Amino acid sequence: MEYEFEICKGCGLCCKIDGFVFLKDGEAEKIAEFLGMDVYSFTEEYCIIVNRKRLALKDKSSSNECIFLDENNLCKIYDVRPKQCKDFPYLWTNEELPEGCLLKNRVD
Ligand code: SF4
Ligand code: SF4
Repeated sequence: MEYEFEICKGCGLCCKIDGFVFLKDGEAEKIAEFLGMDVYSFTEEYCIIVNRKRLALKDKSSSNECIFLDENNLCKIYDVRPKQCKDFPYLWTNEELPEGCLLKNRVD
């Protein structure tokens, strides 16, 4: 299956679907520095531990939206966003892309 990657409209829906945004080694430190925080405060405020070992970003308390998605569907930490975010949808994608995502338009 292929997608027309170039037609991503930046709607932010992929930051709202269910699932974890995992952090790789060094990413928490990088984001914490970007936010002007120490890494312990950053992980306490913005992260959860999945399966007792993997660090992931929290969702907003009221929804599945990533805690860093702003009201204009922009990423507040775009310059230092995790690799998992950078790679989407080029290196991985989600079969459950939400309605409205132009990547649902598959090419033959
Ligand atoms: S949901 Fe699809 S169209 Fe919207 S920002 Fe994500 S990849 Fe782009
Ligand atoms: S870190 Fe940014 S790009 Fe990644 S899911 Fe959150 S809002 Fe989206």
